[in-house]
Formats: sequence, structure tokens, C-alpha cells
Amino acid sequence: MNANIMGNVTCPKCGHKQPMKIPSSSCQAFYKCEGCKSMIPAEKSCCVFCDYGDRKCPAAEKHKK
Ligand SMILES: [Zn+2]
Repeated sequence: MNANIMGNVTCPKCGHKQPMKIPSSSCQAFYKCEGCKSMIPAEKSCCVFCDYGDRKCPAAEKHKK
């Protein structure tokens, strides 16, 4: 059903935008930027998609309701 949801995350360090698969059942606490090769941790919320992505992770939307 919701397999392979994609979102774009923007690196807070170098501004590199990269498409990533959003996990449907768990939060992703960090990701590796392909632009500057940094590990980017989520700071404001549970998930790098909520912090830096153009769409929230499905888990966060579940928490709200
Ligand atoms: Zn970067």
C-alpha cells in the first residue's frame, strides 16, 4: 500500500537535496548526506524527514492524531 514513499531531504550543512525512501513504520533519526558526506541527525523532531524533508514521516502523522 504505502511501499516506497519517497521524500526529498535538504542537508542543513551544505544544502544538498536528495531523494530518500521514507520508512513507513519507524522514524529515521539520521541520514548520510551525499553532498558533504556528513551524518545528519534529526534535531527538532523524531525524524530527519520531519526536520529537513519536504514531507513528514508517516509515523509522525500517526502520532498527531
Ligand atoms: Zn550535506
